[in-house]
Amino acid sequence: MNVTVKLPPAKGVFIDNKWQPSQSGRTIAMLAPATGQVIGAIAAGEAADVDLAVKAARRALDGAWGRLTATERGRLLSRLGRLVEDHADELVKLEAADTGKPMKQARADVVAVARYFEYYGGAADKVHGDTIPFLDGYLVTTLYEPLGVTAQIIPWNYPGQMFGRTLGPALAMGNAVVVKPAEEACLVPLRLAELAAEAGFPAGAINVVPGLGEEAGAALSAHPGIDFVSFTGSPEVGALVQTAAARNHVGCTLELGGKSPQVVFADADLDAVLTSVCAAIVQNAGQTCSAGSRVLVERRIWDRFLADLTTRFSKLTAGTPEMDLDLGPVISAGQKKRIEAMLARAEAAGAEVVARGAIADGVPAEGFFVPPLLYRNVGRDSELARDEVFGPVLVAMPFDDEADAVALANGTDYGLVAGVWSGDGARAIRVARKVRVGQVFVNGYGAGGGIELPFGGMKKSGHGREKGFEALYELAAMKTMVVKHG
Ligand code: NAD
Repeated sequence: MNVTVKLPPAKGVFIDNKWQPSQSGRTIAMLAPATGQVIGAIAAGEAADVDLAVKAARRALDGAWGRLTATERGRLLSRLGRLVEDHADELVKLEAADTGKPMKQARADVVAVARYFEYYGGAADKVHGDTIPFLDGYLVTTLYEPLGVTAQIIPWNYPGQMFGRTLGPALAMGNAVVVKPAEEACLVPLRLAELAAEAGFPAGAINVVPGLGEEAGAALSAHPGIDFVSFTGSPEVGALVQTAAARNHVGCTLELGGKSPQVVFADADLDAVLTSVCAAIVQNAGQTCSAGSRVLVERRIWDRFLADLTTRFSKLTAGTPEMDLDLGPVISAGQKKRIEAMLARAEAAGAEVVARGAIADGVPAEGFFVPPLLYRNVGRDSELARDEVFGPVLVAMPFDDEADAVALANGTDYGLVAGVWSGDGARAIRVARKVRVGQVFVNGYGAGGGIELPFGGMKKSGHGREKGFEALYELAAMKTMVVKHG
């Protein structure tokens, strides 16, 4: 399949189910990471556009959108899921061109987008409260109501999936949303907004203001008309968003990435481990919050394991979306430079490359390609051992025993996902319970997978839960109703 896409000029901002020119008229060029070439432009929305979008969302809540039943909201979400399936080929091409990811990855992403809407469409009318025993003569019930207007600030690594992941539960619970997609990649979110209008969402239920983070994003997170903020991105911006939300006394969820370990004991199924370890770091060129970016290996199999991993790792190859290889480029020249600078610092401190994947012949020289890299001799307290690279870079480290494995796994400020591999089920469960993360896999690893599985971080990885039913509760206001009936 060819991923050349023809794009209309910047469409503006999506408010009240219509494209409107942004107030400033400025635009941002969109580059294809695989070629470095301009493939389109988006509007540079800013505070004035955000204000219009928030007002439109509020009108929707007070109007047609707010009057829909939970079942009707669910039907709209399900219909949107079907429209995503109907437009899958188009969306796959857009996502691949916009992010540079291999076509098979882009297709898996689009399947997941449809599944988010299907899942939350089915869930919309299944969230209900309790009755609580209280004093004689009282009936007490809890109700789940919309929070109001919610802001969804999403990143560039999975533009389509992030749109589905954050909007699915927000809309299921009856909130009206204002989305700020990432300026590096957001063509699929813009198209999904159009499909939502086609599905029948009333005007104002879904509004999208593309633009720069420090302009549109900052204005949205600080807008006094916002009742909740869902943010995914860097810890630094997460802190700014949380501060802005605090000033308005509203809640937020933060999903800020990780340095997720896979802990490998000598008695594990090593063939399965090797496959999983390679896949978990090259998926999306390592630009996945839950990328398995550390492999921690019991010392008595260290040499053999590293040799086998080196053999497999060296075969991993980066290419363009059309080549459809193991991974694509990273998102931008800036990210490539940031990664290379971090690796130069690590190598100066003694980190050693044990395996290097390839960049396929024939990739455009202007593309933002970084080969997969496997490092050892990485100090436990070093930047490379503790900080997120957000690129196809895996760190291998040995551990001595179970206690050491847990200490090493927990030895970063992050706490998003972990994998524990062992043939001893009791030990695997012990370790799985001691790692301080929001999601742990035993004898498996799923970077980002599982729409049904509650997902989110501890420590610097953020707080709040997305996905699964938990996301619905995050995006609802619980009201306790106390009725005295005598
Ligand atoms: P970022 O945090 O700058 O951007 C994420 C989103 O926040 C984008 O939509 C952006 O426009 C918006 N934003 C930026 N500044 C803002 C502000 N002041 N107020 C409100 N919104 C703002 O992330 P990035 O620069 O694109 O990437 C930097 C690093 O963040 C990456 O290297 C990676 O470590 C991490 N990251 C993590 C995830 C994840 O899934 N957890 C995703 C993308 C990036």
